Amino acid sequence: MEFKEIGQNVFACLLQDKGFGFNNSGFVNLGDGVIIDTHYDLKHTQQQKDHILSVAEKPPRYLVNTHHNGDHTWGNQLYADLEIIAHKKCAEEMQLEKDSNIVQLFQGLKAGGLDSLPPGLRWFFEDIEEFDYQGIDLTLPNRLIDEQLDLDLDGIPCEIIYVGPAHTSNDLIVHLPAHRIVFASDILFWKCTPVGWAGTNDQWLKAIDRIVSLKPGIIVPGHGPMCGINDLLEMKTYLEYVYEESKKLFDRGITEPLEAAKQIDIFRYIGWTQPERMIWTVSRAFRDFRGESWDVPFGDGITLMDLAYQLKQHWNS
Ligand SMILES: [Zn+2]
Repeated sequence: MEFKEIGQNVFACLLQDKGFGFNNSGFVNLGDGVIIDTHYDLKHTQQQKDHILSVAEKPPRYLVNTHHNGDHTWGNQLYADLEIIAHKKCAEEMQLEKDSNIVQLFQGLKAGGLDSLPPGLRWFFEDIEEFDYQGIDLTLPNRLIDEQLDLDLDGIPCEIIYVGPAHTSNDLIVHLPAHRIVFASDILFWKCTPVGWAGTNDQWLKAIDRIVSLKPGIIVPGHGPMCGINDLLEMKTYLEYVYEESKKLFDRGITEPLEAAKQIDIFRYIGWTQPERMIWTVSRAFRDFRGESWDVPFGDGITLMDLAYQLKQHWNS
């Protein structure tokens, strides 16, 4: 984990991307102090907390959860006494996860040994082997927002802006206009293949345009190395390209996303982490083409993981 000052009193906490779960977080050491996201387990979040406390003059007051995915929220309990800010749908999604005991399920699957898992799940769990889910008690946000929350950090503005449903139903970004820094969270995957769990391609493109309109000099992506606007635009080109190619194939009568994905040439994107994750973008596009709305599930996680594994096998054959 690299803890780096990217602007005066603004820090990025960067995990080298190796696949699912290796996210970035941040800390603004101004005013009452704002942490942006946690990590996927208590061990990594404790490392983040140690870094933060090494520079903070006093314990921070705020934690922003940019969305509900576990890699950004499952360390919340180490900050249970903070104001945990999130979109209202983030709290709903986390409550569903808590009710379904998803953390215990993950831990149980890992404990059972990866060899016993079907190939798609094994593909996913091999990826997240580094994370230890023991002891996690899902801790929900306690300050919910709808569209935007502006914090005043001793005269320095900090804007928390809802841009979803793009990657999930509840995507927030954090903008520091005086620093020209945006924490884009999972609106931007840089040098790794983007995954959308809900929302629409169209709204994701709009979320990207919103970040571009803020004219940031530095963007901290949710996953991958730090970057700038040109890199964000390259990911936008990827989303547009995969969507358009999917449409052509759908219009030719192909109804199965895996069959379409096998025919899409992703040439210069093949070097991004887990290119087979393209199946998420194709499956979501197909939901659009079928005329279904953004909140209709386009495949459960296990099915999508299996399709991704099959796509990878296809490329390797
Ligand atoms: Zn993420």
